[in-house]
Amino acid sequence: MQRSPIIFSVDVEDWGQSVLDQSLPISGYCADNVLRMLDLLSHDADARGTFFVLGKFARKHPRVVRDIAAAGHEVASHGFGHVPLHRLDPERFRSDVRRSSAVLADILGQQVQGYRAPQFSIVRSTLWALRVLAEEGLAFDSSIFPFAGRRYGIDDWPVETRQVRLGGGLSIVEFPLTTFALAGRRLPISGGGYARLLPGTLLAHLFKREVARRSSWPVFYCHPHELDPDEFRRHAPVPTWGTKPIGWRMRWHQGLGRRGFAAKLATMLKHFHFRSFAQARRGQPSAAETWLVDHRPPGLPRLPRTPAMPNGSPTPARGPSLMGRAAEVTGGGSPWQDDSSGQVSARESV
Ligand SMILES: [Zn+2]
Repeated sequence: MQRSPIIFSVDVEDWGQSVLDQSLPISGYCADNVLRMLDLLSHDADARGTFFVLGKFARKHPRVVRDIAAAGHEVASHGFGHVPLHRLDPERFRSDVRRSSAVLADILGQQVQGYRAPQFSIVRSTLWALRVLAEEGLAFDSSIFPFAGRRYGIDDWPVETRQVRLGGGLSIVEFPLTTFALAGRRLPISGGGYARLLPGTLLAHLFKREVARRSSWPVFYCHPHELDPDEFRRHAPVPTWGTKPIGWRMRWHQGLGRRGFAAKLATMLKHFHFRSFAQARRGQPSAAETWLVDHRPPGLPRLPRTPAMPNGSPTPARGPSLMGRAAEVTGGGSPWQDDSSGQVSARESV
């Protein structure tokens, strides 16, 4: 079977601490589930992925972090405490990122290159986070879901990988989570509950369709606890996590599709080459540039909103470079803008 590359990513966290209450201690379940994930991936000697590891988890289970790296996968940062960005200001966010990067560097002996925000919480109002990440030395981010979500997402963010220019010589590569165009809408089915519920062959079919229609590799995401169908049963007869009760709706919603998830990953492995973001940065064509104009250099006026094309993708701008053109433009608008020169970054390939 001809296999196409997709980026395989795992958010390594403890379910109760990350989903239920960030003040809870890290349990041992997640460590076991990460080892299950590594075992499953080892059935394809060529499969690689990026594991965004929570700093709190890494501090408790440093050996598991080393196991991930020893198996040939990329380790990146999922922040330290799993507090969504809308509950942090830029300086508290910076200290969370810095703390996580330091814990991981201490374990691995080298700096991590990438970041994923808890609950995909880089949204329109927290785009300042990209500048903080670049200032903290991170080369890429994969936190933005380019769709109109209730809790997260930026509806008009480009669906392809972008070199995001932040002004002042700073930039970061953004790998948006993959959405699927259906009936004129972008749907976030590249992971989570959607991926757990869709049949494996249908999920593979949808990913193949995205591989064919885009130039950057689609991004799949999952969590170690999705391999663990018995997570809630272990807390019987009264389901609690620590002292927190887990209501039936939460158990039902969070447990759906877990029993078949290992088989689903095996199906995806049959259809695709799993790749890490590190491999994507080396192996993909150069990414087009996007300027984040809310973080433009001082004195650069705000740009007008970019009209959307029928499929929801922004219209590529025309004319001379944005920096040259921006002085002509005034008024409010979208926080980002494609490089109007239409050129791709020659120096910094992704
Ligand atoms: Zn998470």
